[in-house]
Amino acid sequence: MNDTIAAISTTLGVGAISIIRVSGAEAIFIVNQIFKGKDLEKVDTHTIHYGHIFDQEEEIDEVLVSVMKAPKTFTTEDVVEINCHGGISTTNKVLELVLNHGARLAEPGEFTKRAFLNGRIDLAQAESVMDLINAKNESKRKVAIKGLNGYVSNIIRNLRQEILELLASIEVNIDYPEYEDIEVMTNEKIKPKMKEIKEKLKKIIIESENGKVLTNGIKTIIIGRPNVGKSSILNRLLDEEKAIVTDIEGTTRDTVEGSITIHGVALNLMDTAGIRDTNDIVEKIGVEKSLNLIKEADLVILVLNNNEELTIEDKKILDYCQDKKTIVVINKNDLERKINMEEIPYKNIIYTNTIDLNGIDSLKEKIVELFNLNELEQKDYTYLSNVRQISLAKESYSILEEVEKGIEEEVPIDMIEIDIKRSWEKLGEIIGETYTEKLIDQLFSQFCLGK
Ligand code: GDP
Repeated sequence: MNDTIAAISTTLGVGAISIIRVSGAEAIFIVNQIFKGKDLEKVDTHTIHYGHIFDQEEEIDEVLVSVMKAPKTFTTEDVVEINCHGGISTTNKVLELVLNHGARLAEPGEFTKRAFLNGRIDLAQAESVMDLINAKNESKRKVAIKGLNGYVSNIIRNLRQEILELLASIEVNIDYPEYEDIEVMTNEKIKPKMKEIKEKLKKIIIESENGKVLTNGIKTIIIGRPNVGKSSILNRLLDEEKAIVTDIEGTTRDTVEGSITIHGVALNLMDTAGIRDTNDIVEKIGVEKSLNLIKEADLVILVLNNNEELTIEDKKILDYCQDKKTIVVINKNDLERKINMEEIPYKNIIYTNTIDLNGIDSLKEKIVELFNLNELEQKDYTYLSNVRQISLAKESYSILEEVEKGIEEEVPIDMIEIDIKRSWEKLGEIIGETYTEKLIDQLFSQFCLGK
């Protein structure tokens, strides 16, 4: 990691300014060779200088160069940023000169990787850098900046500290059983502390999962047999004629997406081809896709026709959705009831009639209730921000559950200690206290160039 890296940090295209960032021990020396202006090796840290970039005798551009000396920089190394005129040709030429004078082209995310490896930010913060760059809505931005500022990391750190203190007192007992003035740590004594830690972790996990809804929206699948009124419901929700509503069965062949915002949360709606056994190949692809989409969805809106008895397909779908967050919509409520409600063992049931718009508001309210959207709005956006972090927290939690069981079953304390340590390590992986080379490479490769 001793070499000096360089990359274009701004988007490569036509623009007023482009920034070429250089980081490493040789950064100042390298840029100084192609810069005419002040001697950059003699300037103060965190200063900016006017001058020109030269390729031997040829002037390439008029620039401003920022010099930031280690250790108070993003990477903790010497960093130089060349602000040149935007435009593909000039920017590339300046980068080429920097590379010709001894820098290596940075890999995607390598500046941030260095910031992490040099201890300036932890892994959760590094991921927040990426989230911030990719944030496409306000919620995402808020979660990312909180993460970058270390709020999330601190929560995890504090919890680890509590576990560590527990571990320390167990260890003292194991190592120095003869000391009488040390409180004897029995399974009974560990229990309340363990429970407290577990509860805290559980809260973090739940809030993070809710937070995911805030940032990613609720992926919602509208599913049901052809002609029950899925497209009509979708349209009523979207308030626009997006899907084509017809009387011929099976016209909605593929997913039609639209998005509405409820309490600041995006409800990403997808209409699906109606489920039914069919010989039509195109339709069949749609049906299979529908079942796959159920698996991935956060919310299933299962539409049934009030005016018809349940069919085998309806029962199949009802069965299929049992483990998902599901709202059953009994549509065509304006027509005579032929459906047998006793055959529908679901607790979230809404009656709608899309012709008169009855029930659509109740459907929205049900969604608010199911996802706690009322409360979510007032939250402070301090969440674990991605699947990696949340699944590590969950792993840590399930180890703590094992610990609790172990305590109940009077498992020897040194065995219990091993598990507590495992859960402490899992939490450490969230912030990168322990990590593998492979994880780091894979994680940072998702960054864009120059960051
Ligand atoms: P999809 O195939 O499940 O998407 O169903 P559509 O939304 O295309 O609707 C099929 C037919 O049912 C259309 O003719 C709609 O006008 C009609 N329809 C939809 N909702 C209602 C309703 O609440 N009451 C009545 N009577 N007809 C409806």
